[in-house]
Amino acid sequence: MKNLLCPQCKIRRFYITNDAGDRLVVTVTENKEIHPIHEGESLDGFDTSILYCLGCSWKGSVNNLTIR
Ligand SMILES: [Zn+2]
Repeated sequence: MKNLLCPQCKIRRFYITNDAGDRLVVTVTENKEIHPIHEGESLDGFDTSILYCLGCSWKGSVNNLTIR
């Protein structure tokens, strides 16, 4: 399964946040599923509607990501 990429800088790692301000680093597969990069981490409580790029200032939803 390929990962979707940031439309600006083309990296594949993003973070999402929860109400406490914690960050969870994730990747997104081409079928728009969000996965934490570390085994055993959970998306519970995190807002998956906005992704923040780890490489640039881009933020947006999984629907704004690019395949290449
Ligand atoms: Zn980026």
